[in-house]
Amino acid sequence: MITCALCDTSTDGETAPPTWICSVENGGRQYFCETCARTHIRAIESRLDSAWW
Ligand SMILES: [Zn+2]
Repeated sequence: MITCALCDTSTDGETAPPTWICSVENGGRQYFCETCARTHIRAIESRLDSAWW
């Protein structure tokens, strides 16, 4: 099950839906749902850790 790192939305299945974004932070994978990804797309693309958002 994949859980959004920001809003705790979860999805069934072992892989994130194509609309979700996977970000690697501190050696671990973090997933963000479509809504959160859209909201934070600039931060994600600049590879800022979510702690900075
Ligand atoms: Zn989310």
